Amino acid sequence: MAVKITQKEYLDYIDRFCKKLEESKDYITELDSVTGDGDHWVNMNMGFQKLADNRPQLEDLKLSDMFKRIGMLIMSSVGGSSGVLYGSAYIKASQVIGDNKFIDINLLFSIFNAKLNAIMERGGAKPGYKTMVDSLYMGVKYFKDALESGKSEEEALEALKNGAIEGMNSTKDMEAVKGRAYYQANKGVGHLDPGAVTMSYQIETLVDYLLENNF
Ligand code: ADP
Ligand code: MG
Repeated sequence: MAVKITQKEYLDYIDRFCKKLEESKDYITELDSVTGDGDHWVNMNMGFQKLADNRPQLEDLKLSDMFKRIGMLIMSSVGGSSGVLYGSAYIKASQVIGDNKFIDINLLFSIFNAKLNAIMERGGAKPGYKTMVDSLYMGVKYFKDALESGKSEEEALEALKNGAIEGMNSTKDMEAVKGRAYYQANKGVGHLDPGAVTMSYQIETLVDYLLENNF
């Protein structure tokens, strides 16, 4: 297997994630109602539906421009913190893509790493603050370890996914330091962070799609 993702395939992944979001509406809304203000699902859905609606225009852009445009569409359509954070993440990722016409495994790593740095810079959250960063950070870390130790591409993708899930699960017992959960009486302890859950869902959806299609 050799990862080689084109615009069309990336947009197929976005369509898949839209379906995953539809299925998780009640769960995500409930999580954000306990730890935040209950709108995380609505925000994410608004942003990703916007991308699905703009698919024809996005598909015609150069890969790096497509990522930039995705960032701008998310930023302009999503009100909550997640809009600014995902917007910045995609815009930063567009810069590491440069003139590449498709995403191979190393570029995929650089994209995730760029997204992680953008979100941490923009939001000021570090790992352990009970946010979406926890899932992305652990995914990127496991992905990096797998690539550096010469694991196969399949194994590296599995590592990315397992790290994201582990990072998501680790938010359950954390006390929030950033975001709205910080203002809750128990700082969200005992509940997963909704942003970490949707981050993990995106990574899981992408990895499953890549492994199923075996390219
Ligand atoms: P809002 O908090 O503005 O209502 P959302 O509900 O869309 O925005 O998103 C909430 C999620 O955003 C949280 O669950 C958390 O994962 C993430 N989040 C909030 N603030 C930050 C931050 N400063 N850095 C990283 N992630 C954050
Ligand atoms: Mg919210």
